[in-house]
Amino acid sequence: MPRRSVVYLDHHATTPVDPRVLEAMLPFFREGFGNAASVSHAYGWHAEAAVEDARERLAAALGARPREIVFTSGATESNNLAILGAAEGDRRRRQHVITLATEHPAVLDPCRHLAARGFDVSVLDVDEHGIVDLDELEATVGEQTLLVSIMVANNEIGVLQPVEEIGRLCRERGVLFHSDAAQAAGRLRLQVDAAPFDLLSISAHKMYGPKGVGALFVRSRRPRARLSPRQYGGGHERALRPGTLPVPLIVGMARALEIAMDELESESRRLQELRERLWKQIACRLSGVHLNGHPERRLPGNLNVSFEGVDGERLLLALPEVAVSSGSACASGRPEPSHVLAALGLSLELARASLRFGLGRGTTEDEIDRAAARVVEEVRKQREA
Ligand SMILES: *Cc1c(COP(=O)(O)O)cnc(C)c1O
Repeated sequence: MPRRSVVYLDHHATTPVDPRVLEAMLPFFREGFGNAASVSHAYGWHAEAAVEDARERLAAALGARPREIVFTSGATESNNLAILGAAEGDRRRRQHVITLATEHPAVLDPCRHLAARGFDVSVLDVDEHGIVDLDELEATVGEQTLLVSIMVANNEIGVLQPVEEIGRLCRERGVLFHSDAAQAAGRLRLQVDAAPFDLLSISAHKMYGPKGVGALFVRSRRPRARLSPRQYGGGHERALRPGTLPVPLIVGMARALEIAMDELESESRRLQELRERLWKQIACRLSGVHLNGHPERRLPGNLNVSFEGVDGERLLLALPEVAVSSGSACASGRPEPSHVLAALGLSLELARASLRFGLGRGTTEDEIDRAAARVVEEVRKQREA
């Protein structure tokens, strides 16, 4: 077990399960263990009722209809189902997909798979703050375009994309709009009709719910998003995603999103203040530091900083008492610098010299002060060496 004195500032990688979420889940590991697909007895009915209750709550939080929520194993699966399912399910057999250079691998890799199968995939660049160019997007949408996949909030630099404009553009041009909202759900107030979104991926473990469960919103009317399934084996989830439902995880995800929405405004304000505190302590005490991403249009708990003259990986190794990451957690293990920072136009050196701080529900002022002091101390040490 990690020591409790280690300051956890990696809430973009995952979040702890909120005790209230755990409490809601426990009965479904115990006496409420039934299979939600068992229609012949009380165990099944009880489990099914819990799943449908969770579906209604999730739908309500997102402004969706319950039948538009498909349960999956997480945002990776939701993204795959959305992108590959839309490509295969398109009645007009259109062959062009548009995405963004700074997307998560769970979007970029399915797009690459489509490209290998002969699809035309446009990967748009971002500006120096990480934001899509709407004119370029508009110019890229054509007769053959079936889907645009652009995330709400980035997992490395926290930047928020103009999803309302993207959604409106897609609607006007008859193109499906998918968005990876793994980082945004529970941190922003998302409404599927506001953008509008046609397909929206969420993940429970990024919002103080359990790992191994997520959902995909699939618009059911005006216009209906047509998907073809990625797997076969029964009629669960309107045959779009067959498999026995993880009832405790689904109950936990719905509770997690409800709690996050209840506390959204106060928690956002708190995180933003803590983030400013962290940035000030770093920027006031060190020269040669760069904020990556947009100064305002970003998730309240996200700070991504490059430190001139240091190596991010070496910095991490020297900071065992602070749990942060350099580059994307999903890309770490590989030596290449983050594709997100590269897309901002950062030099290889600055991209390698970055730390991502992800503040969250448990983060305190004292922790921020301790983390900042250690980071400053270690950066100075490495620069002197
Ligand atoms: C974490 C994350 C994912 C993957 O979600 P899982 O539920 O872990 O599969 C996808 N996209 C983004 C933006 C993420 O932050």
